[in-house]
Amino acid sequence: MRTIIIKFGGTSLAGAECIRGCADFVREAEKDARVVSVVSAMGGVTDTLLELAAAAAAGNRAAKYTLLGALRKRHEDAAAALGATDGVAPLLDKLDTLVAGIAAVGELTARSQDAVVSFGERLSSTLMAAALGGQAVTGEQAGIVTDDNHGEAEPLMALSLYQVKENIKPLIDHGENVVVTGFLAATQHGVTSTIGRGGSDYTATILGAALEAEEIWICSDVDGLMTADPRIVADAKLLDRISFDESLEMGQFGAKSMHPRALEPAAEHRIPVRIRNTFNPTCPGTLVADTVVEPGTIRSALMLKDCALLTIAGAAMVGRPGTAASIFQALADVGVNIQLISQTVSEAGISIVVAGSQLARARAALDNKLLRTKTARRIDVEENVAVVAAVGSAMHGIPGIASRVFGAVAKCAVNVEAIAQGSSELSICFVVKGDAGPDAVRALHDEFDLGGQRSADA
Ligand code: ASP
Ligand code: MG
Repeated sequence: MRTIIIKFGGTSLAGAECIRGCADFVREAEKDARVVSVVSAMGGVTDTLLELAAAAAAGNRAAKYTLLGALRKRHEDAAAALGATDGVAPLLDKLDTLVAGIAAVGELTARSQDAVVSFGERLSSTLMAAALGGQAVTGEQAGIVTDDNHGEAEPLMALSLYQVKENIKPLIDHGENVVVTGFLAATQHGVTSTIGRGGSDYTATILGAALEAEEIWICSDVDGLMTADPRIVADAKLLDRISFDESLEMGQFGAKSMHPRALEPAAEHRIPVRIRNTFNPTCPGTLVADTVVEPGTIRSALMLKDCALLTIAGAAMVGRPGTAASIFQALADVGVNIQLISQTVSEAGISIVVAGSQLARARAALDNKLLRTKTARRIDVEENVAVVAAVGSAMHGIPGIASRVFGAVAKCAVNVEAIAQGSSELSICFVVKGDAGPDAVRALHDEFDLGGQRSADA
């Protein structure tokens, strides 16, 4: 019988009703597969726990009291409805004690913060296990071991895969309904760690690899990946299948897909990942898998809005090694993430795109480092730009895609301000004025007939 890992996101676990729905979803899948469930915390709970930990450390007693009360009520209500009170009550008491301890010392370390946030998944897994008549297992009990970089801990993969197989396989061979906490693991010393926000996806793919699952389902409240954002393009269509590379590329553009590192174990062990919607169980979703596509087209037209374009110019940069390094270093030093880079062969200017929210920091760092040392003569800034991307592995090695992309954009009189394409040819990205972004996306969607209108008419 095949094995499937099903991961439920926080929105799918919003309350007792939703959790029952998830349990039904699992039972349906169990008709022809063995299922291991992985759960996130109930929607919004991780954020509340982070706030709670900060409030406790800061000595903000009113906030601590309110937040604890809200968490308690939400989980107790769900537990009462699902018959899980006996499992949930001791967890809530432990959380109380932990938070009191943090308040007493008035200090929050990354390690104690991990201890606090871990209660989100400890609680949700207990609720889900009750709804399913199964057994809740923490990431640590499952065998996932990480380094001690609390908050963003990295799984020690070989050891984790081995231990998960040792610990979980006997349970499922016994027909046990296992519910694993997403996001949580432990260091080699057995201290609770978390593997980064959204990390439950990663937990699911680690389990999939360890148990040699046939498929991993990542379930949330969207049907899957689309050819474009349906709020921008009315005839945007659900993609039934894409490759791992395309999925990673789309994730960068905010297409609700997965935790970026989560794809690695699945891709490496060639386990297909299905992105599904728990609220629309008849929809098969989008399959992320080794994919052969019709050459010469794109899969998706996407956009990142609220960006800023910085152009660093000056003759002193020409032929001078190290200029790019000093730009990137200056930005890295202040924690600014670069979204797009473009430089021409004349070397007289380098353009970069950053999130609008990071512009002030980026600009100050570059002024400081480049203008003062006369490495650059001028830094031009354009606020409110959008990065538009045509994504698809099938453009690889096919001439003429770029000309169609820019031809389509030109037809709607949108000016392109900077362009970047990596040699992997997975996407062509370009920068336009913010309010022209949606027009450019629609132009691409139409040019490549991603809505399938023309092929349907034909
Ligand atoms: N609960 C964690 C978070 O909100 C992990 C997850 O949802 O995947 O980031
Ligand atoms: Mg979450």
